[in-house]
Amino acid sequence: MKRIYNFSAGPAMLPIEVLEEAKKDMLSYKGCGMSVMEMSHRSPEYSEIHQETKTLLKELLKVDENHEILFLQGGASSQFSMVPMNLLDPKDKAAYVITGSWAKKAYKEALLFGDISILASSEDKSFNYIPDIKVDEIDPKTKYLYLCTNNTIYGTRISPSLINSIKIPALLVGDMSSNILSEDYDMNRFDLAFAGAQKNLGPSGLTLVVVRKDIFNKEKGSLPTMFDYRTHIEKDSLYNTPPCYSIYICGLVAKWLKNLGGVKEIEKINREKSKLLYDFIDNSRLFKNEIKEEDRSLMNVVFVTGDKNLDESFVKGAKEKGLINLKGHRSVGGMRASVYNAMPLEGVNALIDYMKDFEINNI
Ligand SMILES: *Cc1c(COP(=O)(O)O)cnc(C)c1O
Repeated sequence: MKRIYNFSAGPAMLPIEVLEEAKKDMLSYKGCGMSVMEMSHRSPEYSEIHQETKTLLKELLKVDENHEILFLQGGASSQFSMVPMNLLDPKDKAAYVITGSWAKKAYKEALLFGDISILASSEDKSFNYIPDIKVDEIDPKTKYLYLCTNNTIYGTRISPSLINSIKIPALLVGDMSSNILSEDYDMNRFDLAFAGAQKNLGPSGLTLVVVRKDIFNKEKGSLPTMFDYRTHIEKDSLYNTPPCYSIYICGLVAKWLKNLGGVKEIEKINREKSKLLYDFIDNSRLFKNEIKEEDRSLMNVVFVTGDKNLDESFVKGAKEKGLINLKGHRSVGGMRASVYNAMPLEGVNALIDYMKDFEINNI
């Protein structure tokens, strides 16, 4: 059977081992006579999947007792409003770091709920760098600082060491949709982090939230039940029907990652994959990436030739070689290779081989 290398920014590739296992379980999960999709979310079989997935994720993320893992729906985009809705009263302050379109969307949602300021932004240079995060300029009354750890569209990321080096006088909230479990972030520094599953965790339909349980103090009953984090904390993400199948696949992905050696090990592989690409681009006479080394994403590698027609023919030719979805986001153009955890090294090498040929033929 033919499998292609999918460089999409999301939904992204899943590890082949995960798909094989899901295939094996499809008609009769562990011999129970039905698939995970058909099971009651209150059944013992599903309960085990739910708890095991949670335990594995807690282990991989290395979160302490004060943190809870939630399985929600509505995508990362729903978190843009759920976060301020739960953490702010209208007069409360929050500070946002605007490093791309996703952070900007989150900022716009927050404006509906409180007094929101922009602490730093890189919009002046089309988001091609990580701005200085001047924590001493944060108003002491600020409830939380919001940032996006990986900017999927622009190929930049706020590194774990940068986050570790700043002392944040407020809660820290992070959108980690496109780089959760890819690098060794100290997750206990985050009071709330979230990620749509479809990039590094599993299929779409599941939104993972990692949250410190004691950060909410709004009056009980003052929020819609489904949009109050405390509902899901108290009911263990089983207040209503969770996205069971997506959680099951996420559990298989977590198991795959654990068997591989966990986040530290995948970080090594991710560094190797992205370095191969960046080194090739930096030495190329055709392809360019202008992002400073320390700000470069390990997950989304953006590059251009500088000629729109050439970019287009690059993407077209790649598709013929089974390297798909290399077109950059419509807002920036050029190319983008998303090399999430499940993209094997062979895929990156196949891409580089194609880039070499393309360069020779077009220079
Ligand atoms: C993809 C992405 C989102 C949007 O996720 P949805 O689950 O589609 O809402 C938000 N933030 C970042 C950083 C992303 O990469």
